[in-house]
Amino acid sequence: MAAGPRILIVEDETKLREAVGEFLGREGFTILSAADGETGLRLAREQAPDLVLLDLMLPRLSGTEVIKRLRPGSAVPIIVITARAGEVDRVVGLELGADDYVTKPFSLRELTARIRAVLRRSGGGGVGPAADRLERGPVAIDFDAHSVAVDGRPVELTPTEFAILGALARHPGKVFSRLQVLEAAFGYAYEGYERSVDTHVRNIRRKIEPDPAEPRHIITVFGVGYKFIEGALGRQAAQTGGGEPR
Ligand code: CA
Repeated sequence: MAAGPRILIVEDETKLREAVGEFLGREGFTILSAADGETGLRLAREQAPDLVLLDLMLPRLSGTEVIKRLRPGSAVPIIVITARAGEVDRVVGLELGADDYVTKPFSLRELTARIRAVLRRSGGGGVGPAADRLERGPVAIDFDAHSVAVDGRPVELTPTEFAILGALARHPGKVFSRLQVLEAAFGYAYEGYERSVDTHVRNIRRKIEPDPAEPRHIITVFGVGYKFIEGALGRQAAQTGGGEPR
């Protein structure tokens, strides 16, 4: 097998590290991984990966320490993973010389798009997949640019909303339970987040639906979950409708 760009994952959460590694492996990347900062730093120096995915909260050596010690001797692109949405992490990460960041929970698709964008900018790697875009009725989703437009009008979604809308829209008509929404959006289900799906769906509807009370795109399937359709009109919308699956 042709070896794709080599990604070093430094992350102490085993489940997340493995999920990211498996997903990126399927996307054609070659994966190296470390569960603590010290090992991560050593591998970054010895193995010269094309990109480092670096959690900030790590045992033995923090992510920020890893960056400090790695720079300026190495120009390897670094994407920081942070659990805290706080600005401190973001600024520190980027000021220290990280190239981008993702906030947990993040979608694996989003992460892959970020990795490809950073690799393209850095001139390394060079996996050039076809543009990843969807048009579903009036809803246009660009997974590379991470943008959504409805009737040509740009819509601002949070990364989580984007991941959920993208997951549903990739399979129009398919009914997802809340758990399946999370799995499809993030690559694995974050326990305890199931109910948050309702909130996110409500917010997405507010942004993409002409009338959020009678949604045409994200339809509630009572007792089950949600599905995306290109556009329901009149009776269909009235029969299915909005609200929560209960
Ligand atoms: Ca951690």
